[in-house]
Amino acid sequence: MEKTAITIINTLKNKGYEAYFAGGCVRDMLLGVEPKDYDIVTSAKPEDIEDILEHTIPIGKQFGVILALRNGHHFEVATFRSDSGYSDGRRPDYVTFTSAKEDAIRRDFTVNGMFFDPIANKVIDYVEGKNDLNEKVIRFIGDPKKRIKEDHLRIIRAIRFKTQLKFQYEPRTYQTIKKYKKLILDISKERIRDELIKIMQLPNLDEAFTDLEDLRILDLILPEILNLKGVAQPLKYHQEGDVWNHTFKALKSLSLNTPNEVKWAVLFHDSGKPDTFIVKQDRIHFDGHCQRSAEIAYNALLRLKFPKEFISNVVWLIKHHMMMKPLLEMTQRRQNHWYSHPQFSNLLQVFKADITGSDPSDFTLYNKIYADFVNNKITPTQKLLTGKDLIKYFGINPGPIIGKILKEVEHQHLEENIHTREEALIYTKTLIKKWNI
Ligand code: ATP
Ligand code: MG
Repeated sequence: MEKTAITIINTLKNKGYEAYFAGGCVRDMLLGVEPKDYDIVTSAKPEDIEDILEHTIPIGKQFGVILALRNGHHFEVATFRSDSGYSDGRRPDYVTFTSAKEDAIRRDFTVNGMFFDPIANKVIDYVEGKNDLNEKVIRFIGDPKKRIKEDHLRIIRAIRFKTQLKFQYEPRTYQTIKKYKKLILDISKERIRDELIKIMQLPNLDEAFTDLEDLRILDLILPEILNLKGVAQPLKYHQEGDVWNHTFKALKSLSLNTPNEVKWAVLFHDSGKPDTFIVKQDRIHFDGHCQRSAEIAYNALLRLKFPKEFISNVVWLIKHHMMMKPLLEMTQRRQNHWYSHPQFSNLLQVFKADITGSDPSDFTLYNKIYADFVNNKITPTQKLLTGKDLIKYFGINPGPIIGKILKEVEHQHLEENIHTREEALIYTKTLIKKWNI
């Protein structure tokens, strides 16, 4: 992927433009971590980028961002810009195409503000990012107050990068976040959601939640999860501590490629425990907590504007997270019916996380169901594109046309004419032309 990205930089340079790697990938390369994706910045204007590179999609042309597809990978190629306006604290009102230096200082944190020239093998650092990278410090570029007021999402981004990179906060960065944290109530739920999704993908996500709680931000964005703190559980099954400890122990047991549905289901699986807590007979009980957790998750995810299908999958997983015992008592035919549910392998992952998050952990039931499922399972086919992709990459308005395109893409996939996500994107572009969309 890096080699392909370099060929794109070379192509732009050969036409006389400046072109560099930018942002997260430079940070990761300097840290010796393999970047997830390679973003490219250039002095070429969007129209020039589209002329020079083959297979492009104008995903954010008004902000100067073009998606370039090459060798089965995709790269964001963006024109140097500075952002202006921010009258809504969300997005720049307009952008101006500028120089590399201006593009560096509009970025959020010093460690995210560097460029790399792979041809000259040189880091271009206008923001003293290298020093902070060496000292493992998260620091706003410029005046923290101004930077938070421009875009309030940067509050959560600071917490995310501090956790992701295992860095510390620069004092003024920390104090300013603390002081202006309430501004996050003013940003779109979708943007908060997308940062939270990224936080949920970190192996040490519990540290981000601890910071969110410590800075009194969690009560503003996910009060349902703050409510898990201090809720006692029966000692016999839960020596790990309160529901908060159990939830994060369970979450941390999930591997990196666990589907988001599973992660969010585990986050909320016991959110109904505070409301259903009762001490009777010999111990603490939480009668009906699955149902209550499912309701709480439904409302929270709806508020955060998750897609309907995602919400219903998460809710289903939560509702059935105590199904292991009943499952084993069913007839084989009925069990098979459950195993063929498209979400059953996800449910197994929720079961497993729930057990791993408990002390003592008893995997006897789980192992039985797992073995039985593996012997009987019917795997649903993986989709290459979703409706969300069509909206994001091609700006298509939600409506029946989305289903029509997805059906055609799936048809070509089943016919083995296309095999990858990138091929599906290129094919979609031709469809859009052909159908005059
Ligand atoms: P990751 O590896 O998690 O994707 P990243 O650094 O690539 O990290 P992105 O959210 O993909 O993070 O953003 C890419 C780059 O764009 C950042 O490194 C930063 O320079 C800039 N950036 C993104 N969002 C903002 C923002 N809200 N304000 C200022 N700069 C931003
Ligand atoms: Mg990125």
